[in-house]
Amino acid sequence: MNTVLAGYGLVKKYGSATALAGVDVEVGERDSLAIMGPSGSGKSTLLHTLAGIVRPDGGEVLLRGERGAGGSRPTEGLDRIDQLGENRLSALRRKRFGFVFQSGQLLPELPAEENVALPLILEGVPRRQAVERARRWFAPLGLDGLAHRRPGQLSGGQAQRVAIARALAVEPDVVFADEPTGALDQATSTEVVRLLTSVTREQGAALVMVTHDADVAAHCDRVLHVRDGRISGHSQYTVA
Ligand code: ADP
Repeated sequence: MNTVLAGYGLVKKYGSATALAGVDVEVGERDSLAIMGPSGSGKSTLLHTLAGIVRPDGGEVLLRGERGAGGSRPTEGLDRIDQLGENRLSALRRKRFGFVFQSGQLLPELPAEENVALPLILEGVPRRQAVERARRWFAPLGLDGLAHRRPGQLSGGQAQRVAIARALAVEPDVVFADEPTGALDQATSTEVVRLLTSVTREQGAALVMVTHDADVAAHCDRVLHVRDGRISGHSQYTVA
């Protein structure tokens, strides 16, 4: 596996609660990894730690090709990111990572295409060019004809597909998805996760997804089971 992102010995405590008790995880290029486990087991903390949102109390997070990040390099080509300053870390998150949440992440006053273009505009791409680039994602995600709709005029599944387009617009190395189908019915959820996994892979990005739904997790290449802040098992799927 050509590792693009890794966490080694990850520990995170909140007061007396231990959210992560020493987790090792590696994510490969175009890999898709589902994180499953009971409520409170540390899934979101693990995702947020790998994504540079939560800073671990122990261990290291490494990302390929983040030169100048410093720190130790246990694996060739991987650079430590968990000790970067907040500005550098938030720039890294914007450029190299995409995020999909359960719901409510689109700006209600903007049409779908401008929601997708927003991360590009924040990166300094001129508005017209950003919207043009954003529109390219609509057909692959089955959103033809919906570019001018506002989020309130979209179904739950359509809104999640716009959110996926937005996560992919910056052409990230890794897409992080936290319960991306949590607010959808079973049929819509299957359609959304199928598109999320296939379009992310085609784009050449890796996917790390927290889900409580085994049917959703089965669309990923691998599943990591978490319990009490530790990895309690792995499973591998051959076909999504
Ligand atoms: P999961 O995503 O599996 O439901 P979390 O990662 O959200 O689990 O939480 C793991 C543990 O850490 C839980 O005991 C939770 O209460 C605690 N925890 C998570 N985030 C915080 C926080 N911001 N402040 C205090 N405790 C937290």
